[in-house]
Amino acid sequence: MENTLRLEIVTPDRLVLSEDVDYVGAPGFDGEFGILPNHIPFLAALQVGPLHYNADGQTRYVFISGGFAEISDNKVTVLAEAAERAEDIDIDRARQAKERAEQRMSMEMDNVDYARARAALARALHRLKLLES
Ligand code: ATP
Repeated sequence: MENTLRLEIVTPDRLVLSEDVDYVGAPGFDGEFGILPNHIPFLAALQVGPLHYNADGQTRYVFISGGFAEISDNKVTVLAEAAERAEDIDIDRARQAKERAEQRMSMEMDNVDYARARAALARALHRLKLLES
């Protein structure tokens, strides 16, 4: 029996994280789900939200912009559209993205893509909330 699992978070343009961890909590579509060492093989879709993991007695947070988590052989591979460790989140950028999305959603114009604005707002709000954790 292993005591740790390997967590890798990958986006289309970079490897965000590769670490041995004790626990992963990921944002599934039915709420957060947890992964401990020696978990059975599993594939789950992730929604926009915070992923957290425990390592060295500390809890750390990573923003995930939706994607998939594959668990197999004590390795958790997260394939995300975008992801940032808490310390890499640019708070001003997230605040500006929030304002832009809110402005777009308040416009009553034919050329506004409301679903896109709502998704951008959700990303910005989750990034800002994660910084409060
Ligand atoms: P923006 O409008 O500011 O680009 P967005 O939500 O549309 O925000 P995404 O499409 O989720 O941005 O991400 C595009 C790239 O920018 C990704 O590499 C993502 O990690 C990075 N990114 C976006 N917002 C931030 C932020 N606030 N801090 C750090 N990196 C960010």
